[in-house]
Amino acid sequence: MTPSRLDRIYLDNAATTPVDGEVLAAMTPYFSEVFGNPSSQHAFGREGGNAVTAARDGIAKALGISPAELLFTSCGTEADNLGIKGIALANRDRGRHIVISAIEHPAVIESAKDLAALHGFEVTFVNADKSGIVRPQSIISALREDTVLAALMSANNETGVIQPVAELYPELAARGVYLWCDCVQTAGVLPLSLFPADGGAISAHKFYGPKGVGGAWIRRGVKFVRQMSGGHQERGLRGGTTNTPLIVGMEAALNLSLGRAERENARIAAVRDLFERTVMGLVGGVHVNGGESSRLPSHSNLSFEGCEGQNLVFLLDIAGVAASAGAACSSGATSPSHVLAAMGLGEDRVRSAVRFSFGRMNGEEDAVNAARAVAEAVAKARAR
Ligand code: PLP
Repeated sequence: MTPSRLDRIYLDNAATTPVDGEVLAAMTPYFSEVFGNPSSQHAFGREGGNAVTAARDGIAKALGISPAELLFTSCGTEADNLGIKGIALANRDRGRHIVISAIEHPAVIESAKDLAALHGFEVTFVNADKSGIVRPQSIISALREDTVLAALMSANNETGVIQPVAELYPELAARGVYLWCDCVQTAGVLPLSLFPADGGAISAHKFYGPKGVGGAWIRRGVKFVRQMSGGHQERGLRGGTTNTPLIVGMEAALNLSLGRAERENARIAAVRDLFERTVMGLVGGVHVNGGESSRLPSHSNLSFEGCEGQNLVFLLDIAGVAASAGAACSSGATSPSHVLAAMGLGEDRVRSAVRFSFGRMNGEEDAVNAARAVAEAVAKARAR
């Protein structure tokens, strides 16, 4: 019998998280009570507008940026498109070369590929090392006279490996190259100040806020062109009727998450570590991808010798454990992970990888039960 939702263990928090009850309560009035269009010139509109201004101020303060540097978007993907395409296109008179870390999310990689296909840019992709880190020196070595932009994420969504953005940024700044930093996996977990850049992306549904809202921050003075033409919303830089409830929800979620981060990060890391220890105790031939690096507390990316990651995810789902394989954010993806491949890991290691990502709902019992389910799934997969 398939386990009921209450019996299932959700270990896919890097893909998305549930909306926190307090966040839901903060958002609710803005769906049908305070519903005015923030752009409208009457009391209904002003109420909505005031809520958005307060949320913008709250998010900017939490991130340590100025409210004028923040643009609301529909998701992290849109924020990445805005930053990568918007900055590169606005600066193309200086050059048409960009350098992208090969472990980026498809939102960044595909934006870069669009720039190449549609606007004559050249893109250099820079691999990570075996520990999952993109070394600043390898990005610097890829720079050219005509490089205008580089992209390195704060932490990888598959391995959780934290990237040396703070080391890279001054090097790029000294060479007049902009740095875009996708902070979707670290927002609400680690302070943005750890990842200095010229701009970056966040997405509310990764930190217990609603799906369908994100933000791009772009440092004052950085030239960019809008990617969503329309009305004068977001100072004419991103058209589209302002989504008051979701923006209010993002602010509530970010502040709640950051407020709890210190305690929760330590607790979640301990649960994740218990899971890894228990798996290792029960199963042989397991590798922790990125395990020797500094990782987000949530992520555990494991390869199981002789198994197919997709098959394990399927067996685990039947057993009531939700995990993901490959490029997990685009659900249903069956292609092997481009991230693990860019780390130079062998084919067996790449194809046999499963990502488990822990969150607020998970405790020690989940860790142990999930590890037992993993051991059973691996035994079944190896027996085939
Ligand atoms: N960047 C990273 C690192 C992600 O993990 C995700 C998640 O899917 C995204 C961007 C895209 O964010 P969204 O789902 O809000 O479009």
